[in-house]
Amino acid sequence: MRFGQALLRIVYQHTKIKWFKLAPLFLELKTMFFRWRITFSDGFSFAFLITAVTSVFFFELLIVLPKIEERFFMKLFHAVNGFFIVLSILSNLFMVMWVNTSTKKVILPSVLKPLWHFCAACEANAPPRTFHCDKCNSCIFKRDHHCAFAGCCVGLKNMRYFIVFLFYLTIGCLYASIYNMYFIWEALGGFSLFSVAAHIVPFVFWLFGYLNFLVFIYTMHSVLALVGFLFVGNLLVFHVQNMLRNQTTFEKNHNIKEYDLGWRKNLVACLGTNYFKIFIYPFSESPIPSDGLSFPTNKIQYTVPQHVLTENNLRQRHF
Ligand SMILES: [Zn+2]
Ligand SMILES: [Zn+2]
Repeated sequence: MRFGQALLRIVYQHTKIKWFKLAPLFLELKTMFFRWRITFSDGFSFAFLITAVTSVFFFELLIVLPKIEERFFMKLFHAVNGFFIVLSILSNLFMVMWVNTSTKKVILPSVLKPLWHFCAACEANAPPRTFHCDKCNSCIFKRDHHCAFAGCCVGLKNMRYFIVFLFYLTIGCLYASIYNMYFIWEALGGFSLFSVAAHIVPFVFWLFGYLNFLVFIYTMHSVLALVGFLFVGNLLVFHVQNMLRNQTTFEKNHNIKEYDLGWRKNLVACLGTNYFKIFIYPFSESPIPSDGLSFPTNKIQYTVPQHVLTENNLRQRHF
């Protein structure tokens, strides 16, 4: 009896400690969920991305890999690479959603500073490069764009995760596309005009009975990886170009170049000081040299000495 009571107490205390430790995590998840004002298009994009990534990954792992690779170590090598790429994609996407880059919970000054503006929706002053997002219903520090895949805005604090997410998504699509080339042409009966056309409109080919259902599914995965590579690769090039010029999408469209400090400083301003580590481990610390309230510019700041000002004042008074 005593032993049972002691055991119960230990279990109770143990679970109590565990829950107590997990409480801040649940609170953060709750705030993330309520911050996540998902629209239909955002929800569809998110669901499509998760389905596509996991579906292509399991297709490559369970169907393509056993067919084209016989050596055990090579199978293991590709499987480990695949796991690493998929985990990097999903964890960085989660971090884009998790890290709050909005001005909510930040106490902003009530006096309007030079270059700041007033946001009527938030009823608060907003620093330079901060813009309001109607979907997120908040001002976003160094706002770049509203990401439909994540269902939130990409800005100052979560840009590094977004870049790494795009990087691994592009690598993953390219990896899958290269491997599919060895597999899909064989499944379609060799490289020919027919197999290329089947890649362009696989649904039509299946509908008219030129492809059986299994080959149609294989072709769909191959198309998904190929189109994904072209689409996401294009996005990656666009955002890396902006990153190396320290421009947001808005600044790029309006040809604003005043934050360009040279590619190395621009890289640190976006990815943080540990820009190598974040590609290996998404949760690694990588401090950004800005709090979002002010940003260094390449404009030369002229300061007029005090005695010149006084002389000017005196001259104005005398003449
Ligand atoms: Zn606002
Ligand atoms: Zn937004």
